Amino acid sequence: MLNIAAKTALVAGSLSMFPIASAQAPSTDLTTQVAAISPKLDATYLQLHQAPELSRQEVRTSAFIAAELRKLGYQVTDHIGVYEDGSKALGVVGLLKNGTGPTVLIRTDMDALPVTEATGLPYASKVHAKNAQDQDVGVMHACGHDIHMTVFLGVAQELVENKRKWHGTVLLVGQPAEETIDGARAMMADGMYTRFPRPDYILDEHDNNSFPTGSIATASGPLLAASTSVYVTFHGVGSHGSRPETSKDPIVMGAEFVMMAQTIVSRQNAPQSPAVLTVGTFHAGTKNNIIPDDATLGLTLRSYDSNVMKNMIAAVRRTADSVATAYAVAPDHMPTITIPEHTGPTINDSALTARMTNAATAALGRNRVLHADPVMGSEDVNYFTDSGKIPLTAFWLGVADPAKLAESLKTGKPLPNIHSALFAPVYEPAIQIGVVAMTSMALSLLQ
Ligand SMILES: [Zn+2]
Ligand SMILES: [Zn+2]
Repeated sequence: MLNIAAKTALVAGSLSMFPIASAQAPSTDLTTQVAAISPKLDATYLQLHQAPELSRQEVRTSAFIAAELRKLGYQVTDHIGVYEDGSKALGVVGLLKNGTGPTVLIRTDMDALPVTEATGLPYASKVHAKNAQDQDVGVMHACGHDIHMTVFLGVAQELVENKRKWHGTVLLVGQPAEETIDGARAMMADGMYTRFPRPDYILDEHDNNSFPTGSIATASGPLLAASTSVYVTFHGVGSHGSRPETSKDPIVMGAEFVMMAQTIVSRQNAPQSPAVLTVGTFHAGTKNNIIPDDATLGLTLRSYDSNVMKNMIAAVRRTADSVATAYAVAPDHMPTITIPEHTGPTINDSALTARMTNAATAALGRNRVLHADPVMGSEDVNYFTDSGKIPLTAFWLGVADPAKLAESLKTGKPLPNIHSALFAPVYEPAIQIGVVAMTSMALSLLQ
């Protein structure tokens, strides 16, 4: 779901100082151990990259994750989750109990996107599948969830190998359908915390092309925004294009709505609480000389604050109704508003994030742990926090080629970001760095 252009804390000048490709992380037991399993992790990544599956279709991927966790000795439950339409989801939970101590949930997402890969890489995906509308689409791990799964399996292995160093319970969660932001909700709706121990902490990571491979970036407080998809349908009265006086033109109403809606953020929202309203689709009509009956607009709303989101939704409704009223639409023909997708903001708990940043810094060295600013992309990992009651920290895993990133910062021309057919993460040392970072974070919580 993420649609980010994360503002990197780096500047072009400091990048050349960044010793990513050449220098090793501080030589600890953990880095050595992770380096030893790196060939296996890379093979896993390449295998997952070439076998992407769309949201809600993660049959082989979830079976693979479940099998790998079982091999490592985790107590595995699969086919977890119920979507709102009642269909079953493909969530996986691997449980490892190791004495008395806190419970830590580590999450990966598993789904890919309807994107035809155009990177030209020798291991590029050639997979096609049917989407929910039964159309044939190319499928690609264009959001890098293959990297997340690989890191997750590396962490799973390291936690087993370092069992004598920790006490408590780990809950490894493979989540389906992140791109449609309904997989985490489906797993929670299937009794996650009654069937499995309720976590004390949640850890998550996402790859990010605004940070160089070999680094991670942490942020305290808001990391990602709440996101609400809204459809607004104006119901007019269709007519011949030459006789507008006999119509109530839904295209004109829609156009007016698009302009009026721009003032919702600029005039009705406090600038201290950032928000975005974008009209991304506008569908109406079939022919130049026909005024259609209906026009449907697709909006995305973003904010870090649930109240701001509520106010924006109310304002969208009010604005649509007022436009229809101005065009004398009958009261029983007022615009229809539907909300097919919603997810809350991803807020990093500040105390947990400070602890986790320290743990990662101790394991990776200071120059590999960067600072991130919040972005207006969104994620559904927040569903696992039980409305913010369980502290979460999610961090960025850098996957950009350092030289290309430096060049892009110099020229202002962005690198192909996630969701792009050209997204080509530099998976090493990203995967090793991700495993070391996440494992050291988990170990520091499980003392
Ligand atoms: Zn995504
Ligand atoms: Zn993603």
